[in-house]
Amino acid sequence: MTFDITKIRSDFPILAQQVYGKPLIYMDNGATTQKPQIVIDTINALHTEQNASIHRGVHFLSEQMTERYEHARQTVQQYINAEHLYEIIFTSGTTGSVNAIAFSFGEAYIKAGDEVIVSEMEHHSNIVPWQMMCNRKNAKLLVIPITDDGELKMDEYKKLLNSKTKLVAVGQVSNALGTINPIKEIIKLAHATGAKVFIDGAQGIQHGKVDVRALDCDFYAFSGHKLYGPTGIGMLYGKEKLLFDMPPYQGGGDMVERVSFSKTTYNTLPFKFEAGTSNYIGAIGMATAIEYLQNIGLENIADYEQQLLQYATQKLKQIDGLRIYGNAHDKISIVSFLIGNIHPYDLGMILDKMGIAVRTGTHCAMPLMDRFEIEGTIRASMAFYNTFGEIDKLYEGLVKAKMMLE
Ligand code: PLP
Repeated sequence: MTFDITKIRSDFPILAQQVYGKPLIYMDNGATTQKPQIVIDTINALHTEQNASIHRGVHFLSEQMTERYEHARQTVQQYINAEHLYEIIFTSGTTGSVNAIAFSFGEAYIKAGDEVIVSEMEHHSNIVPWQMMCNRKNAKLLVIPITDDGELKMDEYKKLLNSKTKLVAVGQVSNALGTINPIKEIIKLAHATGAKVFIDGAQGIQHGKVDVRALDCDFYAFSGHKLYGPTGIGMLYGKEKLLFDMPPYQGGGDMVERVSFSKTTYNTLPFKFEAGTSNYIGAIGMATAIEYLQNIGLENIADYEQQLLQYATQKLKQIDGLRIYGNAHDKISIVSFLIGNIHPYDLGMILDKMGIAVRTGTHCAMPLMDRFEIEGTIRASMAFYNTFGEIDKLYEGLVKAKMMLE
């Protein structure tokens, strides 16, 4: 398929919008992505014509919705190439997934003195739940440092690994720097010492093909809303054996087999980890977004986004005093930067008035900002619906804003 940007943009109704009388230039895709019409229509139709709670009803609507929900699970399974359908657990998002494993894995596998490794570039969602788990279990959290270019120091990582390491939790891609981490190697090294690996795929899953079996990761998670799907839905993949051994992290309806006051037995996988009425419409919406991306082609998306990244990097570097944070060899289409001593918030506010939406601040990665001794950055995170013309507008906007603020 040829990459037809005009057609693609027309799939996203929000992009036709004006902000303060200017065409919207949306470059905050790292925070959340916009939704194609097909996802909006699917969610609307499910609410309008088909809504009924899943798994519990014998009636027509409930059975139909259950079927679509389980079909959504299949779509996700195939998307990440998981071996078994029941290794796919629907959660509220990446944060929900990490908290689920941090509790359940912690209960099953972590004891006092054990060690867990994260990296210096992690999102708070991939730090705090592990910190909480380590506090609960009297285990130790260790950190892989990064280089000035924003790459993991792999030699230091190797030194951290030892027989006490029980889990390594790293992001596939940094949301603040754009760095693509060498997760395959990270996983291989961890496995060689007997540790399990959790991959935070929140910023990886939408930029190219992910194959959990080829990676051999033990856990993988992502959020629907960063994948052109709805909010409040995400997924957790875990290897069968681990999920089987891990206790549920929430109790309630659907996750049980039999309940009595003397003893409760749990449902099989994946339902053991899906307590309560799940976000079934969200799950189907997320699966629709995945199918939409597959139709465009993940390789086409990755190629185009790489072109955007190269163009934006070269263009923005022409601005006097602009420093890019995150100059890794392998990056996704994120440019994080500062200009001179200008506060990122001030720049962001002026860009906003020009219709340009970027993110300013710590990007939920305070330890990373501490590493660079900065308060935050401005982050332009581009998706496959962004254009070279929009990057030109960002450049012009920054030049103007710089003149106003310096
Ligand atoms: N991990 C990374 C790398 C992220 O970028 C984000 C969100 O920005 C998260 C985790 C948390 O995702 P969510 O807020 O959808 O749970």
